Amino acid sequence: MRLVALLSMLSLVLSRQAESKEWHPKILPVTKVDFNWAPPKQVGEPGYFIIAKEGKPQCKIVIPAQPSNNEQRCALLLQTYLRLVTGGNFEIVQEPYSGGPAIYLGQTEVSRHTATEFPPIHYGKLTLPNVHGFVIKTENRDTLIIRGNLDIGTNYGAYSFVRECLGVRRYWPTEPGGIGDVYEVKPNLSIPKLNWVDWPYFISRHVGFNPKGWELSRKEGDPPWMFFWYRCGTTLSMMHNFFSLIPPEEYGQTHPEYFPEINGIRYVPTGKINWQPCVSNPEVVQICADKIIAAFDRDPNRICHALSVNDGAGHCECANCRAMDTPESDTNTAQVTDRYVKFINAVAEKVASKHPDRLIGFLAYGGLRFPPTTVKLHPNLVPFYCAMGRGLYSGWDSWMQAGAKNMGHYGYHDDRWFIIPKINPHQEARRIRYMVGSGVARGYYKEFNPTYPLDAHAAIVVAEMMWDPRLDENKILARYYSDMFGESAKEMQNFYETLERDYEKWLKETSPPHPYGPDRSDLDLDHDYAQFQVLTAEGADRALRWLTKALEKAHDPKVRQRITIVEAIFRFVHMCDQEYWLVRSLPDCKNVAEAEQKARQALRYARTKAKYKVDVMEKDPIKQWHLIYREPYDMIKVGEIPQEVHQAIDRGFESAFNANPVDPAWKRLSEDDDPVIAQSAQAVLAMHKISAPNSLNATDTTPDSGLQNLYEDGGFESGRKPELVNDEPKKGSVACTRERPHSGQRCAMLWDCKSSSIIKRIPAGPGEKYWISFWIRSLEYPGPNNVPALYGLRVNARSGTRVLNWVREAVVPTGDWQEFRMPYTTPAGTDSIEVLIQVLRQHARARAWVDDVSVVRVPVEPLKLSGSTSGLTETDLPPEN
Ligand SMILES: [Zn+2]
Repeated sequence: MRLVALLSMLSLVLSRQAESKEWHPKILPVTKVDFNWAPPKQVGEPGYFIIAKEGKPQCKIVIPAQPSNNEQRCALLLQTYLRLVTGGNFEIVQEPYSGGPAIYLGQTEVSRHTATEFPPIHYGKLTLPNVHGFVIKTENRDTLIIRGNLDIGTNYGAYSFVRECLGVRRYWPTEPGGIGDVYEVKPNLSIPKLNWVDWPYFISRHVGFNPKGWELSRKEGDPPWMFFWYRCGTTLSMMHNFFSLIPPEEYGQTHPEYFPEINGIRYVPTGKINWQPCVSNPEVVQICADKIIAAFDRDPNRICHALSVNDGAGHCECANCRAMDTPESDTNTAQVTDRYVKFINAVAEKVASKHPDRLIGFLAYGGLRFPPTTVKLHPNLVPFYCAMGRGLYSGWDSWMQAGAKNMGHYGYHDDRWFIIPKINPHQEARRIRYMVGSGVARGYYKEFNPTYPLDAHAAIVVAEMMWDPRLDENKILARYYSDMFGESAKEMQNFYETLERDYEKWLKETSPPHPYGPDRSDLDLDHDYAQFQVLTAEGADRALRWLTKALEKAHDPKVRQRITIVEAIFRFVHMCDQEYWLVRSLPDCKNVAEAEQKARQALRYARTKAKYKVDVMEKDPIKQWHLIYREPYDMIKVGEIPQEVHQAIDRGFESAFNANPVDPAWKRLSEDDDPVIAQSAQAVLAMHKISAPNSLNATDTTPDSGLQNLYEDGGFESGRKPELVNDEPKKGSVACTRERPHSGQRCAMLWDCKSSSIIKRIPAGPGEKYWISFWIRSLEYPGPNNVPALYGLRVNARSGTRVLNWVREAVVPTGDWQEFRMPYTTPAGTDSIEVLIQVLRQHARARAWVDDVSVVRVPVEPLKLSGSTSGLTETDLPPEN
């Protein structure tokens, strides 16, 4: 039976279906797309407008008599960076002003009289107001104008001025002038005669999500966060918002019929996720239309309003909603796009009667990730295709094929859920060129929660190319390396490129074929131990050597400080990565010496990384640079060996034992000083009834059938219905059946499971070892989009109501009975284990059968676990091999 990580399975199977769809758009070179690009910058006489002489200000910053908050913040930004660069204290004054040379910022009286053209944006036939255009212009030697077409554009003007005219580039969020900023001190500063009018290609741009690091603690009035340094602005709304248009708190009491029918009853939800309104109800259509029309009435500059499914599923199953679906659709596998597009079309039609030029954005996500097949999109709709579980290209193609004329992309770069950095600036550049070249790209929303020292350069590439996709990412990257790492730029470039080379190789090997090249979602393998597969053990070694060389060369204090941070974080990544590859190869070991050596190495990495996590990753200054949480990171604890390492050693020892059960090494290992090695060796012997060297007998290697099965009624022979738990409102179904059991008279059958598990809790103690196994077969119905059900075995270690740790492995059943086995070692504090046989997104026409579930406690001494997180001392670590 093939074992793969649950989520990587999801993405691979999902992406495979894309190949069969033949249609691909023609991708034009970026310079050939139908778009009115901003005019080239006009640069004239040097030294035309003098800003500072010998550190003394030669001009003031002038803002309107009644400045907006935004204009005040931009003035503060200018003042802060003018002081850092020139050493001068520049005064901010409000109009009316007549005191000599000045930088006029925002919608000042002076700038209002400047004749600057901000033509509407033309994407082919679509015309939109130029909401993000800005101008930086030297009217004369005393007048420099920085303003946006609208208030928000003043941001882009101010930040563009700081970047290009003051020469400040900000790569990591730090205090102004900190290690994230790069600039040269220039006591004498002037700018040439200049007329710079600019606007971005993507009218809606987002890079970022949660503020972090310095941004978290910044004070009121400090210059804003990275969002504006990246010159972002989200004009195309598309976020989850059914919950705010049809709020349960407003309508739940009086109109329960607006909410979903699930399991045959109306369900009035309480939160914002895992439910959708009853979209077949005409009053729901009218309410949404009224609210959207009102929002457009209030704001004449608003281009777009969202009308987007809530996060999670919870689709209505009433007859009227089901009638809006295609015959092949299924709420369990979340292929219900047609009903929502019909609903959104109906709202869009009503909105268009009042506001024909405004757009409606929605996430092509969850239940809407596949395009509709029985209905065309209203021309005002803008789907934001979410590349979750699939790469960009195939999904983008399929929505274009379904008739989308204006599209956005919702991408993920969430280092919060990864220890491994996904280093992919070139992948990002390719994606942007693809979207732009397809002619329909209008917005790009990138969730970006970076570990800045490791992959801020991907964010820079995305942000710069969203503004101007004609830019060359290699030039952007070269500038990043030389700006941030000076004398060590070459070594640092080699470090990042070493990581990216492995990433690109992984992409090629695991992505479905597409004429434009490979692509997978950056989110694939998130909070999954398998995430380290993107970086080979050799690649990680090479990368670490480049960092060592870079540090040796670095002499500038800021450069040294930056590389030291990169190195400190990457050292942790390296340990985790090395452990992963040992874990991956251990189960295939065919001889005891190899298994022993790999087991010792894996344990050494496991223990060292846990200590390093406490001592370095969770302490400043490193803590402020990463947001990593969730498993596997959260499960790394001092004094606790990761479950994956335990399992790999158990499986490796079993494999080596099967190859050579008479090796005298087994006796030695069962008495090893390392308690984990000793227990695993004892377990192999115990499971094969061999406890002493003089009883070694090559023929006596069959598992001990006398061990007690702790899983009561694991053969379902009592006929009692097993307990089922559901992670979603939608309940699955289970029954005992006499249909083709694996053994005995009965087995369990599961059907209609959106996200359900057969569950049993079994008393257990800490440090014990178990083998958990069951038999499974299935009848698959993947539907037209080839979305197969997902199966897995999850084991939770519990202490009362608390889950101490858990492990999950995917199971891929076939039509024939197959056995799945998993070893499990309980952590400190365990009082019970919970065994869950999971069935997810099972199509209504699919079935699965489970039989002979077995949980066996291996008769070995439990590990003595302290369960303390106070930290190991160096002497607790096993000796180096
Ligand atoms: Zn309904």
